[in-house]
Amino acid sequence: MQLPECHLTRKGLQWSRAGHPWVYRDDLAFASGDHGDLVRVLFDGRCLGSAFLSTRSKIALRWVERGEEPRLPDDALWKERIEAALARRATLSSRTDAYRVVHDAADGIPGLIIDRYGSLAVVQTTIAGTEKLLPFLARELPLILGVEDVLARNDLAVREKEGLEREVRTLHGVCPERLWLHEEGPRGRVEFAVAPQVGQKTGAFLDQRENRWCAAEYARGRFLDAFSYSGLFALHAAPRASEVLVVDSSEPALELCEEAAARNGSENIKCVRQNVFDYLKEAVANGEIFDTVVLDPPAFAKSRRDVPAAIRGYREINRRAMTLLSPGGILITCSCSYNLSARDFLDVLRRAAADSRADFRVLEQRGSASDHPSLLSYPESGYLKCFVLEKVE
Ligand code: SAH
Repeated sequence: MQLPECHLTRKGLQWSRAGHPWVYRDDLAFASGDHGDLVRVLFDGRCLGSAFLSTRSKIALRWVERGEEPRLPDDALWKERIEAALARRATLSSRTDAYRVVHDAADGIPGLIIDRYGSLAVVQTTIAGTEKLLPFLARELPLILGVEDVLARNDLAVREKEGLEREVRTLHGVCPERLWLHEEGPRGRVEFAVAPQVGQKTGAFLDQRENRWCAAEYARGRFLDAFSYSGLFALHAAPRASEVLVVDSSEPALELCEEAAARNGSENIKCVRQNVFDYLKEAVANGEIFDTVVLDPPAFAKSRRDVPAAIRGYREINRRAMTLLSPGGILITCSCSYNLSARDFLDVLRRAAADSRADFRVLEQRGSASDHPSLLSYPESGYLKCFVLEKVE
């Protein structure tokens, strides 16, 4: 079998030598093959490797393998890559049964996400190339991962760029409505619930795991978990805090939190369903004080156009959170907007601190959890920023 061929322009060659995992349409001199095919990539008659082809998106190629003699695509190749990714998570999997097994190009399969939730694997295929792998994933994931059920959470908007339908579909077994999982955090074991078919992301924000463990180390006194989702920051922090306030606008998320609080015996957790912007404003007006605050908002800057409004939003919530903190108090503040760099975010925090008339020590600069690696050559994949700040007394 011979793969279809795509030829790069000279600019495409330079771009590819820089190591970026994509090639844009403008950098292709010639392309054969259909949407979603694995193709051989050439320049000046020389083979540079293989890639998934998209005939719909501006991103025409996503590298699968570099080198003059790329392997033909077969199940063994994907199986090896998934097994290698699983092996990289061996330490993590001793502490939790909820983790990302495959994180896109950083784990060697561009356009594929595989999350494990105990006996369930949840997959997301974001490009036509990996959409073709769905039958393989349905068949092989139970064997490779030892799971019983496989769900496709393919309701992501990015699929439309590839001309793919948005859908949620059970690929193997029966997908449970709700699953109980656990994490061994620094303050002990926490059990938590996910609703994989309807929950946000694939059911949980796995990318924040280690930041939650970090926050639990700092937790003391009154603890505020703002933009909580199912309250995982709160659940880990509760044993160290006197009182824990959990604020989110989503009722189903808070229901998950309340059930988990009861299951973990965390009687000091109280859930408030409110817009965090309003909650913080009222808390400042009422003169409330917290000793530890977590801010983990959704991405305010989904595109470059949103950046100025996003900066205003981040500045407002951080200014208010900083005002609420007791002297020596700790702020764990996050941004998952990839359109806002760590430097830009730090700048927003500096302005917010000045607005709140306080200074802060930067104790830690963190990113996403270890099962969400980013490639050095692909800076877009390092979207999550998390700073730990201490209010100077
Ligand atoms: N901290 C969570 C993840 C939070 S994701 C964890 O570690 O699991 C962002 C959360 O913000 C979502 O649960 C969403 O429901 C909530 N949200 C978005 N906008 C909000 C707003 N204006 N006020 C309150 N909650 C909001």
